[in-house]
Amino acid sequence: MSPRPPARRGACPAFLAPMETGDGLILRLVPAEGAISSGQLRGLARAATAFGNSMMEITARGSLQVRGLTAETVAPLQDAVLALGITPRLGLAIDISPLSGLDPREIADARPLAQRIREGAAGLAGKLGPKVSVVVDGGGAISLGGHKADVRLVAMRSSPGVRWSITIGGGAPELLAEQDAASLALDALSRIAALGRRARATDLLGCAATQPATSGDDGTPATPLGTFSLAGGRFACGIGLPFGAGAADLFAALADAAEKAGARDLRPATERVLLATGLDAEGAHAFAADARRLGCLTAPDDPRAFIAACPGAPACVCAHFPARDLAPNVAEALAPLLDGTVTVHLSACAKGCAHPAPATLTFVGMDEGIALVHEGAPSGARGPAIAVDALVATLATLAATSRAPGETGRGLLARMQEAGLPAGLWLREGNDRPMVKT
Ligand code: SF4
Repeated sequence: MSPRPPARRGACPAFLAPMETGDGLILRLVPAEGAISSGQLRGLARAATAFGNSMMEITARGSLQVRGLTAETVAPLQDAVLALGITPRLGLAIDISPLSGLDPREIADARPLAQRIREGAAGLAGKLGPKVSVVVDGGGAISLGGHKADVRLVAMRSSPGVRWSITIGGGAPELLAEQDAASLALDALSRIAALGRRARATDLLGCAATQPATSGDDGTPATPLGTFSLAGGRFACGIGLPFGAGAADLFAALADAAEKAGARDLRPATERVLLATGLDAEGAHAFAADARRLGCLTAPDDPRAFIAACPGAPACVCAHFPARDLAPNVAEALAPLLDGTVTVHLSACAKGCAHPAPATLTFVGMDEGIALVHEGAPSGARGPAIAVDALVATLATLAATSRAPGETGRGLLARMQEAGLPAGLWLREGNDRPMVKT
């Protein structure tokens, strides 16, 4: 059966409206308080096994997902979540750092402003589209710069106190006191709602699209892996799910490890990371060691940290190739390129679910094979298409043989692009017609 076209714009697997995929329905859960206990994560893993297909995920924006539900098992899973005492976030998506209020590096605790906007926007429920989002970035150790947002508020040191830089869509930022920033954010959300459920901030006059801020531009790590100091002499330890996914057993084992290490709670975080907080130094070390033994990422230089992969085939009906299954091989083969300057996105179709911002290289599944996009969105993919194994092998050879002394992976790819990278790959295969994927 041919893959289906990507789901309509605006579709997303929310808690109350799970979305159909190739392996059943997928339900997204964001804990309203941002944190859950070890026991709650264990319970969620049990429920994912009982009512889904045992596959769980943490997304790039730090949401938990349970896959493989059926129309009959959605309600029991929702009931199980509530019975575990987990309150799901409903309505407008407002993202803050998972360490807000605990982070000694933050300029401001983002929670009060986020709460003010949430309460003010309650009357817009049902009028805003499901993809409309707000980012409130208190400026701490974890960057939210890679999150796309219709309304972005970033704390700035000011004299006296703190002010918030607010950007609506791609418009010019304004620097305002907290109350004024909240009012402007709510005004923008009202105007978006007035345009209908398909509207975004970029549809507002003077707010045309620009590139989102990029993770790491502000000096914070792009992926919050490793140990972070918290207020009161405690620590948080961030570990990464391999390509954002794992069996329910893995989540349960991580819950056990966090409990054994003395964690206060667990927080799904940006870039598919799970943070255990409230640890002492020894506990942080023990949690990381257990996570490493379980196959998780524990250091920011793990090559897998630079690869985003959607589930691909057979989990998604739109997929043209098994993106996540291929990801470990791609990470291993391209490790010499993945020096922290390169991100690779394996997108099994042109929708690009796994990495909303442009990646350095995106492999896009197409009818004829894989197309390569350099520094662009998957939707920009054009032929020629090539077999994925050949593409990976050619890129690995490039990395091993063509890199100038001191040249970064990104620099090498930019140089190759100037020299006609896709065409070069094409010709290196010696083919005069598209290779068909196997
Ligand atoms: S990008 Fe991947 S997960 Fe998203 S619709 Fe396409 S195939 Fe499915």
